[in-house]
Amino acid sequence: MADTIKSGIAAVRVLEEWGVKHIFGIPGGSINTLMDALLAEKEKIKYVQVRHEEVGAMAASMHAKFTGHLGVCFGSAGPGGTHLLNGLYDAREDHMPVLAIIGQFSTSGMNMDAFQEMNENPIYADVSVYNRTVMTADQLPHVIDEAIRQAYAKRGVAVVELPVDLGWKDIPVRKFYSSANAHRKYPNPALNLPDLEAAAKILNQSEKTIIFAGIGTRGAGEDVIKLSRKLKAPIAVTAINFDSFPHDYEALLGSANRVATKPTNEAFPNADTVVFVGNNYPFSEVTHVFENVKNFIQIDINIANLGKRHPDEVTILADAGDAIRELTKMVSEKTETPWWRANVNNIKNWREYVKNLETKASGDLELYQVYNAINEHAKTDAIFSIDVGDVTQTSIRHLHMNPKQMWRTSNLFATMGVGIPGALTAKLDFPDRQVWSLSGDGAFQMVMQDLATQVQYKLPIVNVVFANAQYGFIKDEQEDTNTGFLGVEFMDVDYAKVAEAMGAKSYTARNIEDLKDIFDRAEKDREAGYTVLIDAKISNERPIPVELLVLDPAIHKPEDIQKFKVRYAAENLKPFSEFLQAEGIKPVYKSTDLGGF
Ligand code: FAD
Repeated sequence: MADTIKSGIAAVRVLEEWGVKHIFGIPGGSINTLMDALLAEKEKIKYVQVRHEEVGAMAASMHAKFTGHLGVCFGSAGPGGTHLLNGLYDAREDHMPVLAIIGQFSTSGMNMDAFQEMNENPIYADVSVYNRTVMTADQLPHVIDEAIRQAYAKRGVAVVELPVDLGWKDIPVRKFYSSANAHRKYPNPALNLPDLEAAAKILNQSEKTIIFAGIGTRGAGEDVIKLSRKLKAPIAVTAINFDSFPHDYEALLGSANRVATKPTNEAFPNADTVVFVGNNYPFSEVTHVFENVKNFIQIDINIANLGKRHPDEVTILADAGDAIRELTKMVSEKTETPWWRANVNNIKNWREYVKNLETKASGDLELYQVYNAINEHAKTDAIFSIDVGDVTQTSIRHLHMNPKQMWRTSNLFATMGVGIPGALTAKLDFPDRQVWSLSGDGAFQMVMQDLATQVQYKLPIVNVVFANAQYGFIKDEQEDTNTGFLGVEFMDVDYAKVAEAMGAKSYTARNIEDLKDIFDRAEKDREAGYTVLIDAKISNERPIPVELLVLDPAIHKPEDIQKFKVRYAAENLKPFSEFLQAEGIKPVYKSTDLGGF
């Protein structure tokens, strides 16, 4: 008789052969064959018991963002599976390879309206690139392998629904269960010289260029800086791409729109040429950010995105780094231009403003001084798992990032609650690196039960909660669009006590003066292997809205400018027009369009 293996175990071997190290989920009757197989294989693959399936799915998606590798999660039939959906949508929107295994009633009860039994495929149809119910024990490893190949190839979510009885059935032993050894990446497209020459010609003639770098430039930050210096073109980034560049590069404008910086929103209306590279900026059309731009050069590796956000003058189908290096060779070196000087001076003025906020030494504790403490304690290769809300915006303004670090969040789906799961997987993926999760209190409350998961697995993560008892990001939107506030404030909670009850080391910061000591002690705890939580009770003032600046006397009334400056402690913040005029450039005005929100 041929040797046999339980088909559930063969399915887990498929995961092992694809290099999966962790799988996140919660058991249930309908997924117990997978649990049994994970028990059998526990030396080779680590089951991570989260406290909510949503956290498991978000951890799987964030794993893919931190490592580039497949994230895997599971949930039982019915609610266990549907709890995954938020994390799965996060993966879908950010094009991350994720496999979700969903439990199903045993084949004997399928289509019988049995307990928690339903037609599962339609539930996952929209979120997935592959979505199949396993029909026989023999095909189970094959379906898992197919799902993984599809998730990688189509950069999305693959869902496998598994009737519980099938995983316990015996199937013949095979030498290999997966096609992992055949996996290859697409090579970079060959560079098309005429396109590059056309771009170089425009760039040589252009006087006011901005390089707008999206996450397609990750790993090529230094090359982008070389082009920036040669062309005297400042660099704008999408909000999720700050960590590709050293925070102190003198011509780093920052990002546009709301999760953004002042110099970028002011620069775009004045630019004549944009190099849109590795970038799919989703606010392009709705905010009309490129309205005044005359020449638009796009570099992207995905033909589906070429010409998508703005009509291209020149289109370059290429890897961002390949194209930027080649373009840099082709363009002529410019000497320092008025455009460069005006932008560098505007950036300098913005950075002085930001630094003043961060280094304020007395008065109410504000979020800025907390970032100052984080910067002082962050390692040069620290990993930041960032939640969604004000912290998304403030972290890109105030964290001093560099390309050795990683900053990841829920980019396009923008789901709250992603900070804790992201830190959980980051620490498992990079045990030797310092890992932070930064969340607002609104987002933290959505997933705080999983602080217990960090403690249970003895993960030394520093979790910072910016607590001001409000959904600040939405409150600010209501200030701009609504007749009053509703639903944006809530009761404060003693998060340090919650954390302590879960076995974490915890601190409450209430004053600027306490920050140094608290962060020093937190760092020592982390080094000693403890999970740490810092509950920072910050004031609830609005961070400066760089999309609604009221600074320029040419378009605003003096009394409004004064009010704005007082509210945002912006006495020394100058409008870009001042720096442009000092260089003999006539400023162009276009207020930032909020794009429908
Ligand atoms: P993606 O959308 O992933 O696009 C990357 C592009 O690069 C794609 O076209 C891809 O094909 C291409 N690419 C990939 N690899 C390569 C390669 N090797 N070579 C060439 N091309 C490549 N962002 C902002 O900028 N401003 C905001 O105000 C803002 N607000 C936000 C608010 C919140 C609360 C949150 C959570 C996020 C916000 N974001 C904001 C982020 C925003 O939602 C988008 O996720 C982000 O702008 C997209 O950045 P991207 O275009 O670089 O990434």
